[in-house]
Amino acid sequence: MTERLAADAAGIARAAALLAAGQLVAFATETVYGLGADATNASAVAAIYEAKGRPRFNPLISHLPDADAAFRHAQADARAARAAASFWPGPLTLVLPRRDESDIAALVTAGLDSLAVRVPDHPVARALLAATGRPVAAPSANLSGRLSPTRPAHVLAGLEGRIAGILESGACGVGLESTILDLTGPRAAILRPGGVSREALEAVLGPIDLASGTGGDVKAPGMLASHYAPVLPLRLDAETPEAEEAWLGFGPEPGGAAAVRLNLSPAGDLVEAAARLFDALHELDDTAIAAGLRRIAVARVPLRGLGVAINDRLARAAAPRG
Ligand code: AMP
Ligand code: MG
Repeated sequence: MTERLAADAAGIARAAALLAAGQLVAFATETVYGLGADATNASAVAAIYEAKGRPRFNPLISHLPDADAAFRHAQADARAARAAASFWPGPLTLVLPRRDESDIAALVTAGLDSLAVRVPDHPVARALLAATGRPVAAPSANLSGRLSPTRPAHVLAGLEGRIAGILESGACGVGLESTILDLTGPRAAILRPGGVSREALEAVLGPIDLASGTGGDVKAPGMLASHYAPVLPLRLDAETPEAEEAWLGFGPEPGGAAAVRLNLSPAGDLVEAAARLFDALHELDDTAIAAGLRRIAVARVPLRGLGVAINDRLARAAAPRG
């Protein structure tokens, strides 16, 4: 059952309580309806992927009530401060170096050390963010592969019964997504065009690269998620660990000699496994290297539900790289 909440004080308070309890709530922003989860709760973030039926983990945008809150999680340089002063609140997402002390879940950034942050300009989104007091990860509130939703009816058509609540507040503005501006390198680059034009950004920041244009070595957004890969090679669909291997388990632990082991979910729960995946890969990589091991063997993860996205990520982490 999806609770249909009016966008008044009581509805906002209920939506904030649902988010705090690790539930999913759809809400209007000035771009499209977002599907929100507490960004510091990895299981809640995993539930976003499950509800949308997304076949892969791509990094999500974290929504915050103001620039100060955003820059407590992401490192702002002078360019970021200027962009924020000119365009926030508004349809501009900044990709910045993630702060070490940020408690945003690794699943939100798909293991990357950069973080996408935005301060939306919609009264309902702003009220909800103020009431939750925590970063809210939110992709568009539609089933994977469907059109982005600009009305409550669009959200409910795809997600009714799959999410805890929706704050119903009519149609969003234009339905155009936020412009994504990458400020992690020396040259600013637009990763996705959207509600703030390149010209408007250049008036504030000077020349900007376009990811798909003349920018040369700038990566397209879809490729960015593949940046993160463990240092050690992975052996997938393994039954038991061999000599010189660390073990990344799913479900019951097998025998075998591996002294370095982690389990994504001893109970075989795919949401739990998705929530732990990136932390587990990072941690196992570090401890296995420190222990002088040569490879990480990974248990078979079933290809259903979130297992599809988990297998996609493992396959790309295991792919040969130059
Ligand atoms: P959506 O949430 O559907 O608006 O899409 C989020 C977009 O932000 C995707 O295209 C992501 O690739 C991009 N994105 C989010 N986080 C990052 C990041 N850390 N680095 C680069 N792109 C990002
Ligand atoms: Mg989308």
